[in-house]
Amino acid sequence: MSDRPKIRLYVEHPLGPGQSVPLSRDQAHYLISVMRLAAGAEVALFNGRDGEWRARIAEAHKRGAVLTCDHQTAPQQAPPDLWLLFAPIKKARTDFIVEKAAEMGAARIVPVRTDFTNSDRIRQDRLQAHAIEAAEQCGGTYVPGVAALQSLDAVLADWPGDRTLVFADEGRVGAHDSFAALPTGPAAILIGPEGGFSEAERARLTALPQVTPVSLGPRILRADTAAVAALALWQAARGDWK
Ligand code: SAH
Repeated sequence: MSDRPKIRLYVEHPLGPGQSVPLSRDQAHYLISVMRLAAGAEVALFNGRDGEWRARIAEAHKRGAVLTCDHQTAPQQAPPDLWLLFAPIKKARTDFIVEKAAEMGAARIVPVRTDFTNSDRIRQDRLQAHAIEAAEQCGGTYVPGVAALQSLDAVLADWPGDRTLVFADEGRVGAHDSFAALPTGPAAILIGPEGGFSEAERARLTALPQVTPVSLGPRILRADTAAVAALALWQAARGDWK
């Protein structure tokens, strides 16, 4: 596929045949000044709703650019109905979790504050930008939303009856749990912080009928590794890798 444009951009604007798409100042700067593209050059665009489109630069100035959509190159594709809930850790590792969750096909990313969460604040807009960048890189047409930080208690109090919560429980290290035994349908994976879950949280979680505790093998994984491993196992057993 050598004629594929090297640059893929996420835009908010609607996409369709002949549609003009004005770029943000930052995106125009990136295309024109950094990547040195000129009028006539092709790029791929997606907006999370209309699939992927081939577009051409119609106007290029230092401070702005306008693209024109030509034809659709991929249909809109939603990932499976899988959320990732995780307790934020150090900044770089939290960024990594969000980037990997977007690549692995999570539909929604929900940072949760747990008893042993050491980080009290997240930059939701920064994390959302990481999810967009990951979607641009990995060829996806969907961008998972990154929710605001919520307490695990609040999230559990409101937990939808039809959504299985796959609880990665370090207390089950070494148990032989199979993701293929999980119920089908909407799901979410829950990954704890470096300090793991408290006994109160474990009791609260296991009392909920939608919760299934799982082991991620015989070794204790760091939270960022655990998130990627659990997403891979779920995608292979229940998601779109099958
Ligand atoms: N400090 C804790 C480990 C936390 S690991 C302890 O020593 O027990 C961070 C998170 O990754 C855990 O809360 C859990 O959600 C997940 N995790 C890591 N290894 C796991 C395993 N083998 N099985 C299940 N979950 C695991």
